[in-house]
Formats: sequence, structure tokens, C-alpha cells
Amino acid sequence: MLSGKTALVTGSTSGIGLAIAEQFAKAGAHIVLNGFGDAAEIATLRARLAKEHGVQVHYNGADMSKPEAIEAMFKEIDAKFGGIDILVNNAGIQFVAPVDEFPVAKWDAIIAINLTAAFHTIRLALPGMKQKKWGRIIQIASAHALVASPFKSAYVAAKHGIAGLTKTVALEVAEQGITVNAICPGYVWTPLVEKQIPETAKARGMTEEEVIQNVLLAAQPTKQFVTVEQVAALASYFASDAAASITGTVMPIDGGWTAH
Ligand code: NAD
Repeated sequence: MLSGKTALVTGSTSGIGLAIAEQFAKAGAHIVLNGFGDAAEIATLRARLAKEHGVQVHYNGADMSKPEAIEAMFKEIDAKFGGIDILVNNAGIQFVAPVDEFPVAKWDAIIAINLTAAFHTIRLALPGMKQKKWGRIIQIASAHALVASPFKSAYVAAKHGIAGLTKTVALEVAEQGITVNAICPGYVWTPLVEKQIPETAKARGMTEEEVIQNVLLAAQPTKQFVTVEQVAALASYFASDAAASITGTVMPIDGGWTAH
């Protein structure tokens, strides 16, 4: 389905990004992995994806909070693959604290990685997509692009920003075969969610089990975590030719959370 295409998935060494990279490789796309992690484990992942799916898998560890690193990654991708066809802006971090106690450095990092990085990747990916008259930009936003939760000011601000960026760019490139959509997962069981449980417990004065039941799953009428495979399947659909008329959407996959 995606053979001959090249996909960059930011933050694909873990969680949702990894599942999307795996799904796209399975569909025949060459993959550029990005994200932090143990070098040997990343090398093993790269080799496994390439061997299992018969595609080229490249890794670039650009820190998405650094515009120069993002630019250098695109130079490398241009030289190796002649640009990218599918861009998945997925890298993200979280921090949970009351706004008047929110560490300034955490605010800056969340805005840089969860929002500004998408501006840089989009501006660098678009010229090649315009030339080819085909492109797919998929933002991994969040239910927090649509609704807020207390103590997540930076994250909610960044994800609402992603929703606005998605719609704006979708309008700018609508006539050029390029679609831009945001996927808004509810709670997905990944390291990002696991790590915020102790912080949320502290901010809300709860036990960690109470956080899982009364905060996380309480938000989702299905009372189930969304799975990384479900998010990857939706990303795969957005990448397909069947989704050519879907653009500028901010699409929940949240077990009914934002239907409240
Ligand atoms: P995760 O922690 O499992 O993975 C995050 C990935 O981003 C990792 O590969 C990590 O190395 C990478 N990353 C972090 N900082 C980076 C940086 N500065 N430069 C490059 N890479 C960096 O998290 P996840 O849950 O898979 O989250 C992925 C995306 O999905 C995020 O944007 C997150 O906001 C979003 N999301 C997650 C959930 C959830 O419940 N897990 C829900 C909604 C949205």
C-alpha cells in the first residue's frame, strides 16, 4: 500500500511512534526512525524492521527541541531518500503540575517538542511534497487538543496549538495532493502515561491506583486504554490514497472521552 514511499516518524523509538513505524514498514514504506534510547536497542530495532518488512530503515536521533538538529536530519533524509512522502509528528513529552508551580524549563521544553518541532518538520517537508504533488502529514495530537485537564497547562496549550497548525496547513496545501490531519488519542498505555501517574498522584493527593481508575480511565467511557495498534491503524488509513479527501481534521480516538 505504501511501497516506494518514505515516512519519517518522530519519536518512534517507543510507544505510539514505534507502532506507527512498524505499521508503515509493514505497508512497504521506507522508514526514518527518530527518538531517544539505547543505541544498541535502536540498532536492533532498525535491523529487525528492515529484515521483517524488506524496506530501508534509517535512524536519526535529532533532538526535536533543537531546530538546527531538525534541519540537519532533513538534509540527511534528502540526501538518502530524496525527501519524505509521509511525515508523522509524534515526538512528545508530558509534565504535570499546577500552573503557578510549573517549572519554566518544562513549559519551554513541552512547547518546543510538542508544538514548535511540528512547525519545523512541516516547513522542511512541504517543498518536496509539493514537488511530488503528494504528501501526508499526520500529527499525533491528543484528546487534550480538544479538551483540557487541570495541571497540564503546557501540554494542553501545545496540543491545542497542533490542532490550529493542522487546520491552517491543510488549507494552505489542499490543492496540492497533500493532506494534513491530527489524531487525538485518549489515554494509551505507553511509557509517557506510566511516567505521569506518580506526578498526577502528587498533584491530586491520590494513590497511583486511584489515578488510573479515577482520573485516567474515568475520562474514557469505554473504561479501556486505547492501544498503540489502534492509533497506528488510524495513521495508516490517513496515509492511504483512500483518505485523500480527508484533510484538516482533528480526529479523536479516545473511547468516547470527548463526546462528554
Ligand atoms: P513515549 O514516551 O512512549 O514516546 C515518546 C517518543 O518521543 C520516544 O520515542 C522519545 O524518545 C521521543 N522523544 C521525546 N523527546 C524527544 C525529543 N526531544 N526529540 C526526539 N524525540 C523525543 O510516548 P507516547 O505515549 O508514545 O507518545 C507519543 C505521542 O503521542 C506524544 O506526542 C504524546 O503527546 C501523544 N499522546 C500520547 C497519549 C498516551 O496516552 N500515551 C495520548 C495522547 C497523545
